[in-house]
Amino acid sequence: MRNKVVTILVILVVILVPLNIKADSKAKNIKELNAELEELKRQKNINVQNKNATRSSINQKKQAIYNAYNEKQQAENDINAATNKIAECEASIEKTKGETAEILKFNELTSNENIYLEYLMAAESIADMSMRSKAISLITSYNQDQLQTLNDLIIENQRLKEELREKQNQLDVAINNYSNAIVALDNYMDELEDVGDDINEQIKNQEALIKYYKSICTSDTQLLSDCVKVLASSTLIRPLEKGVVTSPFGMRVNPLTGKTSSFHYGIDLSTTSMGVKVYSAANGMVAAVTLKSSCGGNIVYIHHNVNGVAYTTQYAHLLSVNVKVGDTVTNQSVIGYVGGAGSTLKKNGGWDTCSTGVHLHYSISKGYYLGGGANGYSSFSKFKANMIDPGKYFPARGTWFYRRY
Ligand SMILES: [Zn+2]
Repeated sequence: MRNKVVTILVILVVILVPLNIKADSKAKNIKELNAELEELKRQKNINVQNKNATRSSINQKKQAIYNAYNEKQQAENDINAATNKIAECEASIEKTKGETAEILKFNELTSNENIYLEYLMAAESIADMSMRSKAISLITSYNQDQLQTLNDLIIENQRLKEELREKQNQLDVAINNYSNAIVALDNYMDELEDVGDDINEQIKNQEALIKYYKSICTSDTQLLSDCVKVLASSTLIRPLEKGVVTSPFGMRVNPLTGKTSSFHYGIDLSTTSMGVKVYSAANGMVAAVTLKSSCGGNIVYIHHNVNGVAYTTQYAHLLSVNVKVGDTVTNQSVIGYVGGAGSTLKKNGGWDTCSTGVHLHYSISKGYYLGGGANGYSSFSKFKANMIDPGKYFPARGTWFYRRY
């Protein structure tokens, strides 16, 4: 008869407690959770494809910029060549002009002054003389043609230089456009990276959630709310029979870094020695067990239902753990043993870098979470954001307590 009453009570209370564990998931059972996971993986593939396409587009544009700079350099070389050509032509013009002047002078002399007619006089006949005279004028007109050709070359090279300068300007515009496109693609890439990280986080969480429900559900089609069996409690009590608060919840001086700015997400309870029993603070269900984490060591998370309100308690730096995920516990269940010193410490060959001595790190958070950090379904920031100060359950710092309530 009494059992029946308790069962009815439990069912009523379980219905009242909001199951925040599911968070973003709308799945009603494990099958639907798996479908959600597949969808997340599909999104991840699309994200990876987009990232690859964007990356190769960025590389193409970088290559195009590299090519444009090469073309610009080639144009610069061509401009220099044209400039040299112009200088050459100008020098040739000066030379040709000089020669022509000489020839003309000679021609003048030969046509006008008798005493310098040696060349013509050397002619053996009038015809020869006339031929010699013609040769002189031919050379002169040849030089005139040369001058014309050189002038044309100069004009041609100047035109070429202008074209090359124009080409360089166009290349500058192209380089600028490519650079702007790269900036835009880089920004898009950052967004894709963020989305990708987010999807990876969701996949990890979804997998943790599936793992959790698989350990507490009897089938893939059982309603998730039916899998969670958290016995109701009227209050949370102390997790130790004997202990002392050594570091309260909130702002404090970090014993490891010496910084005053660190926030203590929980309360530190010291006791006589390692190996002392750690109890669940209330009836509940074991939600997560983290073993040998680099900060916190062995950690247990338990879901409670205190007067219809969901809570998750956390017990860290345990020497060893007595429970597994899905275990139903009461406030008399020993879930593990106090650690935090000796062989659990990293410096002694252990694993925990976040402890300086024997203690239990204990925290209370409103809502249901599956542990913190990368191993948890709900992000550690959410878990931390909903924490409450456990201080009200304990005497002031430095004062020992000898009972659990
Ligand atoms: Zn602590």
